[in-house]
Amino acid sequence: MTTVKNIIHELESTFPLEWQESYDNSGLQLGSLSAPVTGILYALECTEEIVQEAIEKDINLIVVHHPLIFKGLKRITTDSTIGRIVSLCVQKQISVYAAHTNLDNHIEGVNGKIADKLGLTQRKVLSEKTGNLYKLSIFCPSDSVDQVHHAVCEAGAGSIGNYYNCGFFSEGIGHFTANEKANPTVGKAHVPIASKETKMEYLSESHRLSEILSAMKSSHPYEEVAFDVLRLENNNQALGSGIIGRLPEAMNENAFLEQVKSTFGCSVIRHTALRNIPIQNIAVCGGAGSFLLQDAIRKGADVFISGDFKYHEFFEAEGKIVIADIGHYESEQFTSELLCELLRPKFPEIKMSISKLSTNPIRYV
Ligand SMILES: [Zn+2]
Repeated sequence: MTTVKNIIHELESTFPLEWQESYDNSGLQLGSLSAPVTGILYALECTEEIVQEAIEKDINLIVVHHPLIFKGLKRITTDSTIGRIVSLCVQKQISVYAAHTNLDNHIEGVNGKIADKLGLTQRKVLSEKTGNLYKLSIFCPSDSVDQVHHAVCEAGAGSIGNYYNCGFFSEGIGHFTANEKANPTVGKAHVPIASKETKMEYLSESHRLSEILSAMKSSHPYEEVAFDVLRLENNNQALGSGIIGRLPEAMNENAFLEQVKSTFGCSVIRHTALRNIPIQNIAVCGGAGSFLLQDAIRKGADVFISGDFKYHEFFEAEGKIVIADIGHYESEQFTSELLCELLRPKFPEIKMSISKLSTNPIRYV
């Protein structure tokens, strides 16, 4: 029996909540962790129509990108849309889960999906985040290095970009003396020991640290493990806002915008003046991405695909880049596909459906 908790565990081991912005409210919003899942409906946001669709399909878990409950909810009455949605979900025992900025902030999240649709290669995060990387140093008797290395790497230590099991080992002498309460692996009480040890150093992401430390402790032969955890100022290459990548071949600006229009089903693309040059470097940010414009210019993007640009912000292109506002909904619509592709192989027995309803509140004439 698959529960909501099982599904969340899978979602959050790929896109942990720690990656979300401080203002955000990702995670389980409504429902129960212990509820058995009858099916999953994916949508960009949870509207009344989406809840109706879930009811009709006998689905009791809705997974969305935009949180249903974002600001504080002061009352739940059926006079407001949000009140009606919450009431209906509670009444029908439907759980609602949102993966928002934790999904925006990873190279394989929302923007990775947009880059897939555009066929971008050589992707890099446009504005990398700092503060979630740690250096773990473990002091280990040299003959136990292999088992500790295997255990901590298995738990997620030593991952750098596309490389895994990365560590640095240096040899030295560890000095210690046990007291009478100790149960030392080597030596006995009050007899100083000098033992050949290896210092093992690893990079570790914050959300994996507690698992890595418990793997370290259970694989290490010593009663007291000597280790250091230091917070680093290094950027995390995979974490941050936006992506810049390259088209396989340079394109004409008009042809590219036409292609974007058809791929994302845009009625209109609001863009700044074309520069009449072949383009190849493309920056993307799903949703409201104007805060990344200078990063996109600095990193040499020819075009910046995003949404929610305001009138005055278009002036900031200053002929250095083409801003192409394809719409907030249009840019993020494939997020449902991303979430479904993540969970489908893990839970083949669960009915899954990507809603075909557009939840876009904006209409074009
Ligand atoms: Zn959004």
